[in-house]
Amino acid sequence: MSKRYDLHTHSNFSDGSDTVDKLLDHALEKNLSGLSITDHDTIDAYLSAPLKAEKRNLQLLPGVEISSVHKEHSVHLLVYSFSLNDQKFKSFIREQQEMREARNLKMIEKLKKHGMPLDYKKLKEDVGVIGRPHIANALLKLGYVESVREAFDRFIKEDMPCYEPGARPSVEQVIEIAHRSNAFVVLAHPHFLKNAKLERELLSLPLDGLEVRYANFLPYIEKKWEKEADKRNLIKTGGSDYHGTFKPHIELGASWVREDSFNILWQRYQENEHLHKTD
Ligand code: AMP
Ligand code: ZN
Ligand code: FE
Ligand code: FE
Repeated sequence: MSKRYDLHTHSNFSDGSDTVDKLLDHALEKNLSGLSITDHDTIDAYLSAPLKAEKRNLQLLPGVEISSVHKEHSVHLLVYSFSLNDQKFKSFIREQQEMREARNLKMIEKLKKHGMPLDYKKLKEDVGVIGRPHIANALLKLGYVESVREAFDRFIKEDMPCYEPGARPSVEQVIEIAHRSNAFVVLAHPHFLKNAKLERELLSLPLDGLEVRYANFLPYIEKKWEKEADKRNLIKTGGSDYHGTFKPHIELGASWVREDSFNILWQRYQENEHLHKTD
């Protein structure tokens, strides 16, 4: 069987339910040759993951999913292949994490005003970076809502009273910072973009890749994005966006890339590790 790599997964350092160990074991069960752990605005999984992956003979590509903004639209960017010793890039990620923290506190404040106080400290106890799925689960556990969906629909999805976007870098800023670190920037799940104008504007920016294969999306939907990537000479990536029990309908390895695509990203990672050997 040819090799398969899932380039979009979440651990419990953000809003996935699997620990790094569990995620990597799962990757073996799914016969993946490698993966990237792309947590939201944190690379803390990589404190332990490289060694754990090596022991399992899995290729682990550094990655992260950055929350950015383009004209008020929320945009997720996957950044790959940076060196884990790149101090400049790491401080950018730390700033991202701080902005997210400030935004979360604003949401907690709004929820309190709406009669739904949450113990944020307790929420943080066994998670790295808090995201809205954690908040939704907490609201469910406390009986404020009857489902995670209700939590989003009534309170915390965009345009709802307890949502708070927080400060985020622009897409252009993320691209500039990532490129300074010789990393690749991939537009995540373009299938979710709200309209054609936004698609056009984003695709005119100096991106490196497009996430053409995503989650459980069927090939006919992906054709559109493959064509766009070919037209613009962008790297075609893919991954499941696995979140474990937070998104139980999506399996690890639901979408993946072959070895040839993976190697483009892997080679750049090797180069960057070499460049930062002495950092
Ligand atoms: P955050 O980055 O904290 O804004 O949270 C984003 C996460 O919330 C992503 O993993 C989404 O899958 C999840 N999410 C966003 N909107 C919804 C929704 N309407 N219902 C369920 N999950 C959602
Ligand atoms: Zn997520
Ligand atoms: Fe995303
Ligand atoms: Fe994701």
